[in-house]
Amino acid sequence: MVSVVVPIYNEEELIVRFHEAVAGALTGVADEWEVVYVNDGSTDSSLELLRGLQAVDSHVVVVELSRNWGHMGAISAGLHTARGRAVVLMDGDFQDPPEVLPDLIEEWRKGAEVVVAVRRSRQESRKLLAMLFPMFYRVLGTLSDYPIPLNAGIFSLMDRKALDSVLALQEKNRYLPGLRAWVGFRNSIVYYDRQDRAGGEGKLSFLSRIKYAMDAITSFSYKPLRLSFALFGLSTSLAVVLLLSMLLASNPVTLAALGITAAVFFTGSLLLLCVGVLGEYVGRVYDEVRDRPLSLISRVHRSPVSVSAQIGMVAVPSANFGIRAPEVFAEPEKITKAA
Ligand code: UDP
Ligand code: MG
Repeated sequence: MVSVVVPIYNEEELIVRFHEAVAGALTGVADEWEVVYVNDGSTDSSLELLRGLQAVDSHVVVVELSRNWGHMGAISAGLHTARGRAVVLMDGDFQDPPEVLPDLIEEWRKGAEVVVAVRRSRQESRKLLAMLFPMFYRVLGTLSDYPIPLNAGIFSLMDRKALDSVLALQEKNRYLPGLRAWVGFRNSIVYYDRQDRAGGEGKLSFLSRIKYAMDAITSFSYKPLRLSFALFGLSTSLAVVLLLSMLLASNPVTLAALGITAAVFFTGSLLLLCVGVLGEYVGRVYDEVRDRPLSLISRVHRSPVSVSAQIGMVAVPSANFGIRAPEVFAEPEKITKAA
C-alpha cells in the first residue's frame, strides 16, 4: 500500500480539486493506496469537505487534531497514522504537484528507499520569500555539519524502513528534510517545477518560517555557537586599533570619549548576539526536557470498508515517538454517519 500524507489547514478552496488530482495520479499506479488528510484545527469548512470526500471515496483517511499545531505537528500525526509500505508527504496546495506522484512511486519500485522531490525551479509570487529561500539554502549549505539536499522541502516518498527511522527520532524542533537525509538509506532524486499556490493564502506566518529556518540550522550545526570566538577576535582587534589611535591622537580627551563609547556599544552588542545564539540552543534543549508531544490527535476517521482491517490495531507505537494519541480508532458512530 502507498500512503499519501497531506496536512490541511483552512484549504476549503482547494481540497476537492486536490483530492481529484491525487486520486487521478494514483489510480492505476498503485493497487492499494490511502490519502491521510490531517485536519490541523481548520476553522473553515475543510473538515466537513474531507468527511464528505471520505463518504464517497474509501481511500480517504481523516485525522483530526485537537487544535491547530502547525505544519510539522500535522505532518507528524499523519506519518504516524499512515499504514503504507511507502509513504509520500506533500502539501495540499498544489505547490507539490500531484502529477509527480507516479515518478516518486516508480523510483521506489526501482529500489530507492527515500525519494526526494527537488525543486528545479520555483514560482513564488511573494517577493520577500522568493528572495529569502535561496539565501536560507545557501546559509544552511554552508553551516550544516551534515550534507542535506538543498532546494527540497517535505515533498518526498519514504519507504517504511526509512520512515520508521525518522519517526523514531525524538527531537521536538524538527527539520524534516534534514532528518530524512540524516537517516541515510538508498536515496534517489526526482526533479520538479514548484508551482505557486493554486488558491487561498499561504498559511505559514513569517515568524514561523524564521523559527523553521532556525530549527534547520540549530539541529544540523554547532557553528553558530562558535560565533562567539570569531566575535571575540573581532572586538579585541578593534580595541587594539582604538588604543593605538588614541595614543597618536592630537586631542586625546575627545578621542578617548568617542573611542570608549564606541567600544562599550560594540562589545555590548556582540555579547548580546552571542547570548541570543546561545538562547536558541538552550530553548531547544528545554523543549527536549519538557518532552511535550508535537501534536495531539483527537480522532482518526477511516472509511467503513477499511475499518475491519484495523480493529485491534494500535496506531501509535508504544514508545513515545513525539506524539500521543488519546484516541486512534475510527469511531463507529461517525463512520455510520459518513456512510
Ligand atoms: N498547514 C497546516 N498547519 C498550519 C499551516 C499550514 O497543516 O498551521 C498546511 C497547509 O494547509 C498546507 C501546508 O501545510 O497544506 C503548507 O502550508 P502553506 O502552503 O501555507 O505553506 P507555504 O507553502 O506557504 O510554505
Ligand atoms: Mg504552500
